[in-house]
Amino acid sequence: MNIHEYQAKQLLAQYGVAVSVEIPCKSLEEVRPAAEKILAGGSSKVVVKSQIHAGGRGKGTFKSGFQGGVKIAANADEAVSFAKQMLGQVLVTKQTGADGRKVQTLLLAAAAKIKKEFYLAVLLDRATSRPIVMVSTEGGMDIEEVAEKTPEKIVKETIDPAVGMMPYQARKLAAALGLKGDLIAAGAKLILGVYKTAWECDTAMVEINPLCLVENADGKESLMALDGKISLDDNALYRHKNIQEMRDLNEEAPLEIEASKFSLNYIKLDGSIACLVNGAGLAMATMDIIQHFGGNPANFLDVGGGATKEQVTAAFKIILQDPNVKGILVNIFGGIMDCNVIATGIVAAVKETGLKLPLVVRLEGNNVAAGKKTLAESGLTLITGDSMADAAQKVVKAVGK
Ligand code: GDP
Ligand code: MN
Repeated sequence: MNIHEYQAKQLLAQYGVAVSVEIPCKSLEEVRPAAEKILAGGSSKVVVKSQIHAGGRGKGTFKSGFQGGVKIAANADEAVSFAKQMLGQVLVTKQTGADGRKVQTLLLAAAAKIKKEFYLAVLLDRATSRPIVMVSTEGGMDIEEVAEKTPEKIVKETIDPAVGMMPYQARKLAAALGLKGDLIAAGAKLILGVYKTAWECDTAMVEINPLCLVENADGKESLMALDGKISLDDNALYRHKNIQEMRDLNEEAPLEIEASKFSLNYIKLDGSIACLVNGAGLAMATMDIIQHFGGNPANFLDVGGGATKEQVTAAFKIILQDPNVKGILVNIFGGIMDCNVIATGIVAAVKETGLKLPLVVRLEGNNVAAGKKTLAESGLTLITGDSMADAAQKVVKAVGK
């Protein structure tokens, strides 16, 4: 699960990480009082930030033509006028895809005077099965580009999860950012706070880009997280009631939400051939083989190892709601899965939905004879595939590419 920037910063602040004074606004009426409150607090400017589950907002463009999902306003009037251009509008960034995302929340924050921008992230390293903390002096930039062009500018520390992040490791990273004097200790403290957030909230990733060296009103310098992105590990969410409440269904694809209600693992894609498969590995292989024979998958769908008739019916209804779908490929290898359960589910779903599209079914494994018999006796017009390749070729042909 992903959360918004303002929610990520709320979590970070609980672990002592410095963030700006901020007020999230869900409607235009809330913007002026929020801006006035921030300005009254001593800030000379206020930042208006679009809250969507995607990065690259600063350089993004609204479908209306308005440039930039992050804007700095000099006064409350200007903040309101930016808010009018953002709220309810669709923002397209490098990470949203061409469809963009509708902005339904704005974050108003005291604008910091930035002297330097850094990058900081806590990730899980699959190679060592350990958390790593990563910093770079190249903040505010696309980190993938930094990794590709100047990998020496990324510095990493691997953490032993049994002992946690050691203070010396945090100081080493703070020094790698070029911090001097008191700022090394302050940087180390902030990095430890970010690590603690990652560890205690069971995150898959925490990314702060930019982490900033800012100049305060008294002329002194300090460090502050000006952006925050947190992805949570769904398997550990049950331990965090407060974080579960941060879920924003507006940011999730409606069909994916529907699928999650039936414990179906569904991800919508752009192609025309819907697939219904048991097992994530087989589902990926099915998408590959569709592509191999010249087709394009409309979705990833893993119904799991022990799907019921109800789940199969729900799965059918979900894939059929995608208007791009021109044909369906069911690819089942019954290990735990009883092929006849799938067959019964298919028959029920086809009758219930009045399916008119070509449907290719490949069944193999546990109780396959009964499954094939159910399909044969159903009176439905469906195409059977003898092997995965055969079924994929048949569905590609039926869809006419
Ligand atoms: P992103 O584009 O989605 O990553 O959004 P960010 O929150 O990182 O904002 C984009 C850029 O806006 C940052 O890299 C900063 O340069 C700038 N920015 C964000 N907050 C502030 C602020 O408080 N003061 C100033 N001066 N710039 C800011
Ligand atoms: Mn950012």
